[in-house]
Amino acid sequence: MYFCGPTVYSDSHVGHGKAYITADIVHRYLEFLGYNVTYVQNITDVGHMTDNDDVAGEDKLEVQSRKERKHPMAIAEFYTQRYYEDMDALNIRRPDIAPRATGHIIEQIELIKELIAKGFAYESEGNVYFDVAKDKEYGKLSGRKAEDQEASGRVEERTDKRSPQDFALWKRAEKGHILQWPSPWGMGFPGWHIECSAMSMKYLGETFDIHGGGLENQFPHHECEIAQSECATGHPFVKYWMHNNMVTTGGVKMGKSLGNSAYLRDLYKQYDPLSLRFTILQSHYRGTTEFTTEAITSSAAGYRRLLDSIEALRTAVHTPLQTRILNEEERQDPLVQRFIEAMDDDFNTAKAIAVLFEGLNELNTWIMGWINGPAVMGTEIEYRYQIWSNLAGSVLGILPTNQSSSSNESKKKDFALDKLVDSKKAERKAARDRRDFAMSDSIRKELEEAGIILEDTKDGTAWRLK
Ligand code: ZN
Repeated sequence: MYFCGPTVYSDSHVGHGKAYITADIVHRYLEFLGYNVTYVQNITDVGHMTDNDDVAGEDKLEVQSRKERKHPMAIAEFYTQRYYEDMDALNIRRPDIAPRATGHIIEQIELIKELIAKGFAYESEGNVYFDVAKDKEYGKLSGRKAEDQEASGRVEERTDKRSPQDFALWKRAEKGHILQWPSPWGMGFPGWHIECSAMSMKYLGETFDIHGGGLENQFPHHECEIAQSECATGHPFVKYWMHNNMVTTGGVKMGKSLGNSAYLRDLYKQYDPLSLRFTILQSHYRGTTEFTTEAITSSAAGYRRLLDSIEALRTAVHTPLQTRILNEEERQDPLVQRFIEAMDDDFNTAKAIAVLFEGLNELNTWIMGWINGPAVMGTEIEYRYQIWSNLAGSVLGILPTNQSSSSNESKKKDFALDKLVDSKKAERKAARDRRDFAMSDSIRKELEEAGIILEDTKDGTAWRLK
């Protein structure tokens, strides 16, 4: 699968969060179902113009580079790092391949040459345009016609195009443009749309399964991708298109309106990122997500309840449990089946979360019974834990990653230390029982030298660190 990645000239806002959580859910759920997923997500570091339609305006990276007085590639590097930090916090798994547009100039030039050779593109004054009139299927994804592009009321600056709807594949570098490469048409740089065609097909083949992105990319960006790719190869480009809807507040597309701003890293100062992820998942990706302080706060309470119960299961046995893939019996569990049914309905995470809440009452009753009642087998706890941690953790990605190596490592160490001290305590008790006080004192001393203090109480011997 291929999802359009960020243009790395500024920080990610909550809308990016929703887009890449959507991609992440597809990735995770398909793997849960047993598919082997190759996930490609590009980094746009050239060619995305301030006027999104690609022709007018300036390269966004170049504009930011002037503002910050840094090389455009330094801008790209800086915001790419921050992009991954922001996405990591949301527990979004990274793509398998993250190709950069500037690293694939050759592939883009080759694709443009192919389109010219087949008569779908033409050169004009060092620019190359796609000839929309030659592609009879243009508009089939969005249902929009090429004329809409013209009718959008935009002032057309270029006069070297055959038709106003034609879009740029290659752009001549004007004087002072830093990002430029040699090409058969002179020094220049690629248009935004061509990179996604070139890079997706390079890594996934001429026809691949899933292509996604924000709804605002459906037209013209994805329409242009289809036109370029299918006219060049003669094959269908993508089997399934997925578009996520926007994040709104008070019904209005979100800008900088939530308190201070909608940048993710600002939100993280106030809210737990996983709780934000949970809020976003409570709406279907194709619907809008209403993102207000009230919505975040109320979903945070539900999120906490879910988390507490799963954590109780995880730590119920002495060794904290590790998540593994569900076995056949667990997969047949009614809760899992209902969850799968919800997710099979076009990745309906809102429904899937509702299924978890339906199951939560039963789970909590069971946990209470287990706390108060006779000891139950560890396997029963294991069974429930694996189901809940797979659905909430592996698929929805809303559990804190106990896979995170540092915390996991320290938990293992705590556990090992506990075991060692227990065994020393048992040795000491045995010595005392046989009235070998020299031995029992030497064990106490040995532990003390390691920084462990034993304290005899009426309920037995406790220990603490010095
Ligand atoms: Zn794209």
